[in-house]
Amino acid sequence: MKKIALHWKIMIGMILGILFGFLMTTFSWGKEFTGDWIAPLGTIFVNLLKLIAVPLILASLIKGISDLKDISKFKLIGGRTIVIYILTTVIAITIGLLLVNAFKPGNGITPETIEKLSTEYAGNAKISERIAEASRQKESGPLQFIVDMVPQNAFKAMSNNKMMLQVIFFAIFLGISMLLIKPAQSEPLKKFFDSLNDVVLKMVDLIMLTAPYAVFALLANVVVTSDDPDILLALLKYAGVVIFGLALMIVFYCTLVAVLTKKSPLWFLKEISPAQLLAFSTSSSAATLPVTMERVEEHIGVDKEVSSFVLPVGATINMDGTSLYQAVASVFIMQVLWPEGLTFSNQITIVLTALLASIGSAAVPGAGMVMLVIVLEAIGFPSDKLPIGLALIFAVDRPLDMLRTTVNVTGDATVSMIVAKSVGKLGEPNVKEWDDDYQG
Ligand code: ASP
Repeated sequence: MKKIALHWKIMIGMILGILFGFLMTTFSWGKEFTGDWIAPLGTIFVNLLKLIAVPLILASLIKGISDLKDISKFKLIGGRTIVIYILTTVIAITIGLLLVNAFKPGNGITPETIEKLSTEYAGNAKISERIAEASRQKESGPLQFIVDMVPQNAFKAMSNNKMMLQVIFFAIFLGISMLLIKPAQSEPLKKFFDSLNDVVLKMVDLIMLTAPYAVFALLANVVVTSDDPDILLALLKYAGVVIFGLALMIVFYCTLVAVLTKKSPLWFLKEISPAQLLAFSTSSSAATLPVTMERVEEHIGVDKEVSSFVLPVGATINMDGTSLYQAVASVFIMQVLWPEGLTFSNQITIVLTALLASIGSAAVPGAGMVMLVIVLEAIGFPSDKLPIGLALIFAVDRPLDMLRTTVNVTGDATVSMIVAKSVGKLGEPNVKEWDDDYQG
């Protein structure tokens, strides 16, 4: 019997999870049952992915760099990656701004809806948490993010998933130093990381065998903890604009893949789909990273020298979906609560701050909303209206987070292909022979 491909299994898991979630909401005990007995499966899965993220980044980045023939190649890859990341983010923000100005989703919001949303959410602990987190982040000086990249203790950096850039810094530093000593001296270390890399990729495969069950649990939990459908309906136009913009980004990536790498966009989407489905289910580009790396390296054919740098950096700083969402959400909130602030110069400020904000957003669920606060404050949005502003978009934030994370991950994969092609490192897929039981 023909085996079912992994992405279909994940999709079936997702659909069943959603149906199960709806079924459970019809029982008074359903929410608690799902939280106690089903949701932990999803948490274990996400923990497993996070568990292998640091060893994978270390092994693959150190191996990738120490395989380079000379450092100038690395500078080329690094420079192109950063430039393309910034360009795609600016394009995403521009698309967001054009759409939200054209469709004006804020104009349809009635005073009753504002009233309803603000009584429901304005005092919500999660909203206050995000505002507090934003003010903590804002207190640091302009160069703090560079200081933060340099760890004072490598092991401490590796023990905290929020310090991904520090791990990347350490791996690059070690890899470059390995290139600078005699090959015979660096060989044992290289072999060690090479072997670690293969083992961790096998761990990704093993974890992925449980993905269809895990996404069932993750989505069932999203459904039972989601909000009242009436409120979701009121925000349909706003959510529609964000979703339309995100869909345009996927079309944009497909065009880039076709034009710049000469590969079929449909093939690209099919090969990357397990990573996209996980991004959707977990709302975290960081948790999805091991799978993105595995798919891009083995199923798309991007050389490790490129993917090992481009993807971890991208998961941390390149968030096209998040920046598009920040552009739409900030203008939407202004259309409703502060129309006099909608000037051209404020919209230009949004482009700049949303660019910086998406770089600064952590690759975890809900992070985009923390940075949205910083975008709004940068344009002088009245601080007393801030909690109401966030209350306006809070109800639909989780589904939009799921979608924007999918776009974030797809963007990283696209850029890795473009950079690889430009330096002659886009080869053929290379699924390991011991992977024949792992479909997809
Ligand atoms: N959840 C997103 C990510 O991990 C970030 C965000 O937009 O909240 O990519």
